[in-house]
Amino acid sequence: MTYARPVTERIVVIGADAAGMSAASQAKRIAGDAVEIVAFERGTYSSYAACGIPYWVAGDIGDPERLIARSPDAHRLNGIDLHMRTEVEEIDLAAGQVTARDLATGRSYREGFDSLVIATGAVPVRPPLPGAEAAGVFGVQTLDDGAALLADLNQVKPQRAVVVGGGYIGVEMAEALVRHGVAVTVVDHAAQPMTTLDPDMGEAVHRAMEGIGIDVRTDIAVTGFETGRDRRIRSVVTADGSIPADVVVLGIGVRPNTALARGVGLPLGDHGGLRTNVQMQVLGHDHVWAGGDCVEVLNLVSGQYQHVALGTHANKQGRVIGHNLAGSYATFPGVVGTAVSKVCHLEIARTGLRERDATRAGFKYVTVTVKSGTKAGYFPGTQQMTVKMTAERLSGRLLGVQIVGYEGSAKRIDTAATALWNHMTVEDMIALDLGYAPPFAPVWDPILVAARRAAADVRRAGPLSVGSHSSGQCHDPEAGFAAVLRAERARRGDKATAATHHPSDGQVEPVRSGKRVRRFGRARPAHRRAGRGDLSADRAGDPCPARRQAGPDAAGSHLRRGGAAGPDVGLARAAAGLGRRDPRAAGGRRRPQRQAARHAACSSCRKTAATRPPRSVWSCTRTRSSTGCARPRRACGIRWFRIACTSSRCRSHGQQPQQVLA
Ligand SMILES: Cc1cc2nc3c(=O)[nH]c(=O)nc-3n(C[C@H](O)[C@H](O)[C@H](O)COP(=O)(O)OP(=O)(O)OC[C@H]3O[C@@H](n4cnc5c(N)ncnc54)[C@H](O)[C@@H]3O)c2cc1C
Repeated sequence: MTYARPVTERIVVIGADAAGMSAASQAKRIAGDAVEIVAFERGTYSSYAACGIPYWVAGDIGDPERLIARSPDAHRLNGIDLHMRTEVEEIDLAAGQVTARDLATGRSYREGFDSLVIATGAVPVRPPLPGAEAAGVFGVQTLDDGAALLADLNQVKPQRAVVVGGGYIGVEMAEALVRHGVAVTVVDHAAQPMTTLDPDMGEAVHRAMEGIGIDVRTDIAVTGFETGRDRRIRSVVTADGSIPADVVVLGIGVRPNTALARGVGLPLGDHGGLRTNVQMQVLGHDHVWAGGDCVEVLNLVSGQYQHVALGTHANKQGRVIGHNLAGSYATFPGVVGTAVSKVCHLEIARTGLRERDATRAGFKYVTVTVKSGTKAGYFPGTQQMTVKMTAERLSGRLLGVQIVGYEGSAKRIDTAATALWNHMTVEDMIALDLGYAPPFAPVWDPILVAARRAAADVRRAGPLSVGSHSSGQCHDPEAGFAAVLRAERARRGDKATAATHHPSDGQVEPVRSGKRVRRFGRARPAHRRAGRGDLSADRAGDPCPARRQAGPDAAGSHLRRGGAAGPDVGLARAAAGLGRRDPRAAGGRRRPQRQAARHAACSSCRKTAATRPPRSVWSCTRTRSSTGCARPRRACGIRWFRIACTSSRCRSHGQQPQQVLA
């Protein structure tokens, strides 16, 4: 392919990570010697994956060099004149020059440009609170930050950590700290962690975090940081009291690093990011380009600009800049807001608008929530996933999808993101030709089930009435589908009032009114029985390192297999001092316990319950019994309990679990 002559000859790039070096490399790849590129980076690494920092701290990645996609020398070999540890202090647009300072020598010098690329990224938000700069308080924005935190963990060996902020970085860092054997508390001012999800979906993340022993405190504002005489952090002060901390990680978000740009009057948006056109040219300045975390992007669903600090956008935007600098043509139209993350085994994904975004953008919408399996119901290892889908009420246009679930859940968001990108309606999505085989999906993929439910709600919602939106609740996709058919039949005046759908053969048959919709005469699907398996066996070879670290009794509901039973709140309730829920109040029946409590030495710490002060913990699970200890996450030390319910009836937490050994 041939390209036009580059639009520029001498390019200065500020910032040598994802956006900056993607731009430089792409321009060089296309235009070769026709462009001269000088890049400045104030840090010690170039083209590094900050996204890998939590996994590096956790120990999944041993060598930080593996997080470096291209070293300064590799860039230089490609013909880019990269100045490391050199900070650009000033831009002079009129003269076409930047002033750079070599941080090692202190020497300042000016460098001229025909085109300027601003790729200065973002800066972590540091709360303007007393003690926020104390020793032992870390951000995790750069590899240098990650290295400093790791060195501290290895040298100081902190016992208690507080992570401030329950966003995806906070959640990932909390898990990493658990893997270091540190007792972790996460504090967030929101009602649930992961505010990139709606609170009802964030609740599952909350439970999964508690499941690996993280103490999650929500609706709490941090008001300060207390330090000792040595000026090292001692505790995090909140409106609810102080939380002891030997180390603190700040994960309260980032803001665009646009101080230089602001200094020369470049246009900034409401979120403080640079505003560009689709070629990533800064508005009103043909020879200035910007990309990555320092710009604002157009959300293609809401039509509003926002600041989304993600590496996926930074790399794409850099590539677009490189093409355009080299005389080619490329655009970055915007984003639909797709992101994935995880806590231990629980995968978290989102795209499009949350309910509050949809409301803010002025949409009337319907939402459905569907629980389904990750594989065919009868296939071994199928696990639960929850899909929440939002569609515009009148048109049925897809507005957003959120997913939480186990292995194989998160990347299903890409189907939804593609549908969003192409302005599909939920009705269109029902017919999507998605792959199916038992090890990968149920015959009706959860995305299709959610689309089907949402489409039914859109149809049912009918003409728009002012000020309303429906919020469907479907916890059984087949029941949900039957409800749709029921509504359809009722509308048509059919006699049958309910129907059930056989996904395998696509047949619909009527069932009697008033009965729970179920496939009569068939065994319950395996994914609803799977929880009867022996979880203790899973724990021995548990693939989740955080869970292994947390100990065999970290009875997180996130490890539960299959089923649509309610959350495992036993531990959480006990920890909160709420005591045991009366099973009869929840409509459950008492079942005789098959196993007597026994005092046994913990297999990991060898202590018996008798050597410990009593501490009752109640738990209920759909697994066979198991004993052990979880330490040292809480000050009181070892928590002994017996996971007691062997009965298959103990599926809904409505049954009395056996008292914990204490
Ligand atoms: C812990 C963590 C986990 C993440 N996980 C994910 C993930 O899973 N998925 C995802 O998509 N994104 C993730 N991200 C976000 C992603 O890393 C960023 O969006 C991406 O790095 C942005 O690239 P950038 O080039 O715009 O900015 P940056 O990577 O911040 O690079 C900007 C560079 O500019 C340099 N610089 C700034 N000012 C100057 C100056 N005046 N002079 C010289 N140099 C300067 C900085 O030192 C920095 O190296 C994560 C980020 C973090 C911190």
